[in-house]
Amino acid sequence: MPAPFIIAIDGYSSCGKSTLAREVARELGFTYVDSGAMYRAATFYFLEKNIDLEDSKAIGEALDEMLIELESGEGDTLVRLNGRDISEAIRQMPVSNLVSKVSAIPQVRRKMVGLQRKIGEMGNIVMDGRDIGTAVFPEATLKIFMTAHPRIRARRRYDELLARGQEVSLEEVYRNLIKRDYEDTTRLQNPLVKADDAWELDNSHMTRREQLAWVLEKVNAIRNGSTI
Ligand code: C5P
Repeated sequence: MPAPFIIAIDGYSSCGKSTLAREVARELGFTYVDSGAMYRAATFYFLEKNIDLEDSKAIGEALDEMLIELESGEGDTLVRLNGRDISEAIRQMPVSNLVSKVSAIPQVRRKMVGLQRKIGEMGNIVMDGRDIGTAVFPEATLKIFMTAHPRIRARRRYDELLARGQEVSLEEVYRNLIKRDYEDTTRLQNPLVKADDAWELDNSHMTRREQLAWVLEKVNAIRNGSTI
Protein backbone atom coordinates (compact mmCIF):
# COMPACT_ATOMS: atom_id res chain seq x y z
CA MET A 1 0.00 0.00 0.00
CA PRO A 2 1.43 3.45 -0.85
CA ALA A 3 2.28 5.72 2.10
CA PRO A 4 -0.55 8.15 2.92
CA PHE A 5 -0.18 11.46 1.08
CA ILE A 6 0.27 14.10 3.77
CA ILE A 7 0.95 17.79 3.24
CA ALA A 8 2.35 19.54 6.32
CA ILE A 9 2.15 23.33 6.46
CA ASP A 10 3.95 24.99 9.36
CA GLY A 11 4.88 28.55 10.07
CA TYR A 12 4.46 31.65 12.16
CA SER A 13 1.15 32.97 13.49
CA SER A 14 -1.18 34.63 10.99
CA CYS A 15 0.82 33.77 7.90
CA GLY A 16 -2.24 32.58 6.06
CA LYS A 17 -1.47 28.90 6.67
CA SER A 18 -5.08 27.88 7.13
CA THR A 19 -6.29 29.79 4.08
CA LEU A 20 -3.66 28.15 1.90
CA ALA A 21 -4.13 24.73 3.48
CA ARG A 22 -7.88 24.90 2.92
CA GLU A 23 -7.47 25.91 -0.72
CA VAL A 24 -4.90 23.19 -1.40
CA ALA A 25 -7.19 20.62 0.22
CA ARG A 26 -10.16 21.75 -1.84
CA GLU A 27 -8.16 21.67 -5.06
CA LEU A 28 -6.85 18.14 -4.40
CA GLY A 29 -9.99 16.71 -2.79
CA PHE A 30 -8.04 16.21 0.47
CA THR A 31 -9.20 16.81 4.04
CA TYR A 32 -7.99 19.95 5.74
CA VAL A 33 -7.04 19.61 9.42
CA ASP A 34 -6.52 22.75 11.51
CA SER A 35 -4.25 21.55 14.33
CA GLY A 36 -4.22 25.02 15.93
CA ALA A 37 -7.96 24.70 16.49
CA MET A 38 -7.26 21.68 18.69
CA TYR A 39 -4.85 23.64 20.92
CA ARG A 40 -7.34 26.49 20.98
CA ALA A 41 -10.13 24.11 22.05
CA ALA A 42 -7.99 22.82 24.92
CA THR A 43 -7.20 26.39 25.96
CA PHE A 44 -10.86 27.32 25.88
CA TYR A 45 -11.70 24.39 28.12
CA PHE A 46 -8.89 25.15 30.58
CA LEU A 47 -10.05 28.76 30.80
CA GLU A 48 -13.63 27.73 31.31
CA LYS A 49 -12.74 25.24 34.01
CA ASN A 50 -10.23 27.59 35.56
CA ILE A 51 -7.49 24.99 35.36
CA ASP A 52 -4.24 25.86 37.07
CA LEU A 53 -1.58 25.42 34.37
CA GLU A 54 0.87 24.14 37.00
CA ASP A 55 -1.50 21.38 38.14
CA SER A 56 -0.68 18.38 36.00
CA LYS A 57 -3.36 16.21 37.62
CA ALA A 58 -6.11 18.69 36.79
CA ILE A 59 -4.70 19.09 33.29
CA GLY A 60 -4.67 15.33 32.77
CA GLU A 61 -8.26 15.01 33.92
CA ALA A 62 -9.41 17.87 31.73
CA LEU A 63 -7.64 16.34 28.71
CA ASP A 64 -9.36 13.02 29.37
CA GLU A 65 -12.76 14.69 29.50
CA MET A 66 -12.34 16.53 26.22
CA LEU A 67 -13.80 15.25 22.98
CA ILE A 68 -12.73 17.54 20.16
CA GLU A 69 -14.40 17.27 16.76
CA LEU A 70 -13.28 19.24 13.71
CA GLU A 71 -15.26 19.79 10.55
CA SER A 72 -13.61 21.67 7.73
CA GLY A 73 -15.58 23.50 5.11
CA GLU A 74 -15.41 26.80 3.28
CA GLY A 75 -14.81 29.16 6.22
CA ASP A 76 -13.23 28.62 9.62
CA THR A 77 -13.07 25.06 10.86
CA LEU A 78 -16.15 24.12 12.84
CA VAL A 79 -14.96 23.00 16.26
CA ARG A 80 -17.05 21.06 18.73
CA LEU A 81 -16.01 20.39 22.27
CA ASN A 82 -18.03 17.65 23.91
CA GLY A 83 -20.77 18.35 21.38
CA ARG A 84 -20.80 22.13 21.87
CA ASP A 85 -19.94 24.49 19.01
CA ILE A 86 -17.01 26.64 20.21
CA SER A 87 -15.80 27.76 16.77
CA GLU A 88 -16.29 31.46 17.47
CA ALA A 89 -15.09 31.47 21.07
CA ILE A 90 -11.73 29.90 20.27
CA ARG A 91 -10.86 32.78 17.93
CA GLN A 92 -11.36 35.45 20.60
CA MET A 93 -8.46 37.24 22.31
CA PRO A 94 -8.68 35.49 25.72
CA VAL A 95 -7.93 32.19 23.98
CA SER A 96 -5.35 33.73 21.60
CA ASN A 97 -3.51 35.22 24.56
CA LEU A 98 -3.21 31.94 26.44
CA VAL A 99 -2.97 29.32 23.71
CA SER A 100 0.82 29.35 23.35
CA LYS A 101 1.22 28.76 27.10
CA VAL A 102 -1.19 25.86 27.03
CA SER A 103 0.38 24.35 23.94
CA ALA A 104 3.81 24.42 25.58
CA ILE A 105 2.60 21.94 28.24
CA PRO A 106 4.08 18.52 27.36
CA GLN A 107 0.93 16.62 28.46
CA VAL A 108 -1.16 18.74 26.12
CA ARG A 109 1.21 18.24 23.20
CA ARG A 110 1.37 14.48 23.74
CA LYS A 111 -2.39 14.24 23.61
CA MET A 112 -2.82 16.47 20.54
CA VAL A 113 0.03 14.90 18.58
CA GLY A 114 -1.52 11.47 19.25
CA LEU A 115 -4.89 12.63 17.95
CA GLN A 116 -3.30 14.26 14.91
CA ARG A 117 -1.37 11.11 13.99
CA LYS A 118 -4.57 9.11 14.24
CA ILE A 119 -6.26 11.51 11.79
CA GLY A 120 -3.22 11.25 9.50
CA GLU A 121 -3.63 7.51 9.13
CA MET A 122 -6.44 8.08 6.65
CA GLY A 123 -4.06 9.92 4.30
CA ASN A 124 -4.91 12.57 1.73
CA ILE A 125 -4.78 15.33 4.30
CA VAL A 126 -3.40 18.84 4.53
CA MET A 127 -2.59 19.72 8.14
CA ASP A 128 -1.35 23.10 9.27
CA GLY A 129 0.31 24.05 12.54
CA ARG A 130 3.73 24.60 14.10
CA ASP A 131 5.27 21.14 14.40
CA ILE A 132 3.49 19.10 11.75
CA GLY A 133 6.50 18.54 9.50
CA THR A 134 8.97 18.18 12.38
CA ALA A 135 7.16 16.20 15.09
CA VAL A 136 3.71 15.01 14.02
CA PHE A 137 4.56 13.73 10.52
CA PRO A 138 8.34 13.78 10.02
CA GLU A 139 7.68 11.56 6.97
CA ALA A 140 5.11 13.89 5.38
CA THR A 141 5.02 13.76 1.58
CA LEU A 142 5.39 17.51 1.22
CA LYS A 143 6.45 20.02 3.87
CA ILE A 144 5.97 23.74 3.60
CA PHE A 145 7.24 26.38 6.00
CA MET A 146 5.44 29.70 5.71
CA THR A 147 6.74 33.12 6.68
CA ALA A 148 5.74 36.72 6.06
CA HIS A 149 6.78 40.07 7.46
CA PRO A 150 5.29 40.52 11.00
CA ARG A 151 3.70 43.89 10.19
CA ILE A 152 2.04 42.42 7.12
CA ARG A 153 0.78 39.45 9.14
CA ALA A 154 -0.61 41.71 11.86
CA ARG A 155 -2.45 43.82 9.29
CA ARG A 156 -4.01 40.76 7.65
CA ARG A 157 -5.11 39.34 10.99
CA TYR A 158 -6.46 42.70 12.12
CA ASP A 159 -8.55 43.05 8.94
CA GLU A 160 -9.87 39.54 9.46
CA LEU A 161 -10.89 40.22 13.08
CA LEU A 162 -12.49 43.52 12.13
CA ALA A 163 -14.50 41.79 9.43
CA ARG A 164 -15.74 39.42 12.14
CA GLY A 165 -16.83 42.36 14.24
CA GLN A 166 -14.20 41.93 16.96
CA GLU A 167 -13.02 45.09 18.66
CA VAL A 168 -9.25 45.02 18.72
CA SER A 169 -6.48 47.44 17.88
CA LEU A 170 -3.82 46.78 15.28
CA GLU A 171 -1.15 47.17 17.98
CA GLU A 172 -2.83 44.57 20.20
CA VAL A 173 -2.95 42.11 17.32
CA TYR A 174 0.71 42.81 16.50
CA ARG A 175 1.79 42.30 20.11
CA ASN A 176 -0.16 39.04 20.38
CA LEU A 177 1.46 37.76 17.21
CA ILE A 178 5.01 38.62 18.31
CA LYS A 179 4.37 37.06 21.71
CA ARG A 180 3.04 33.85 20.17
CA ASP A 181 5.96 33.67 17.71
CA TYR A 182 8.35 34.02 20.63
CA GLU A 183 6.61 31.42 22.78
CA ASP A 184 6.17 29.00 19.89
CA THR A 185 9.81 29.18 18.78
CA THR A 186 11.37 28.99 22.24
CA ARG A 187 9.31 26.29 23.96
CA LEU A 188 11.18 23.16 24.95
CA GLN A 189 8.94 20.56 23.35
CA ASN A 190 8.37 20.65 19.59
CA PRO A 191 9.21 24.31 19.08
CA LEU A 192 8.31 25.97 15.81
CA VAL A 193 11.30 25.41 13.55
CA LYS A 194 11.65 24.82 9.83
CA ALA A 195 12.20 21.15 9.01
CA ASP A 196 15.39 20.60 6.99
CA ASP A 197 13.38 19.19 4.12
CA ALA A 198 10.61 21.83 4.16
CA TRP A 199 10.08 24.30 1.32
CA GLU A 200 10.02 27.87 2.54
CA LEU A 201 7.23 30.09 1.30
CA ASP A 202 7.48 33.79 2.11
CA ASN A 203 4.10 35.12 1.08
CA SER A 204 4.61 38.76 2.13
CA HIS A 205 4.04 39.86 -1.43
CA MET A 206 2.19 36.95 -2.98
CA THR A 207 -1.47 36.64 -3.85
CA ARG A 208 -3.51 33.65 -2.70
CA ARG A 209 -3.59 32.39 -6.27
CA GLU A 210 0.17 32.52 -6.55
CA GLN A 211 0.59 30.63 -3.30
CA LEU A 212 -1.83 27.94 -4.36
CA ALA A 213 -0.10 27.54 -7.73
CA TRP A 214 3.27 27.28 -5.96
CA VAL A 215 2.05 24.38 -3.80
CA LEU A 216 0.22 22.58 -6.61
CA GLU A 217 3.35 22.68 -8.72
CA LYS A 218 5.21 20.85 -5.95
CA VAL A 219 2.40 18.30 -5.56
CA ASN A 220 2.39 17.62 -9.30
CA ALA A 221 6.14 17.22 -9.36
CA ILE A 222 5.92 14.66 -6.54
CA ARG A 223 3.12 12.78 -8.28
CA ASN A 224 5.09 12.70 -11.53
CA GLY A 225 8.13 11.43 -9.73
CA SER A 226 10.28 14.36 -10.78
CA THR A 227 12.58 16.11 -8.32
CA ILE A 228 11.22 19.33 -6.83
O1 C5P B 1 -2.76 28.03 14.07
P1 C5P B 1 -3.23 28.90 15.22
O2 C5P B 1 -2.65 30.27 15.19
O3 C5P B 1 -4.71 28.91 15.39
O4 C5P B 1 -2.64 28.18 16.50
C1 C5P B 1 -2.84 28.68 17.79
C2 C5P B 1 -1.67 28.33 18.69
O5 C5P B 1 -1.65 26.91 18.90
C3 C5P B 1 -0.28 28.68 18.17
O6 C5P B 1 0.11 30.00 18.49
C4 C5P B 1 0.58 27.67 18.89
O7 C5P B 1 0.90 28.13 20.19
C5 C5P B 1 -0.32 26.47 19.05
N1 C5P B 1 -0.06 25.41 18.07
C6 C5P B 1 0.96 24.53 18.35
N2 C5P B 1 1.19 23.49 17.50
C7 C5P B 1 0.44 23.31 16.41
C8 C5P B 1 -0.60 24.21 16.09
C9 C5P B 1 -0.81 25.28 16.96
O8 C5P B 1 1.66 24.67 19.34
N3 C5P B 1 0.67 22.25 15.62
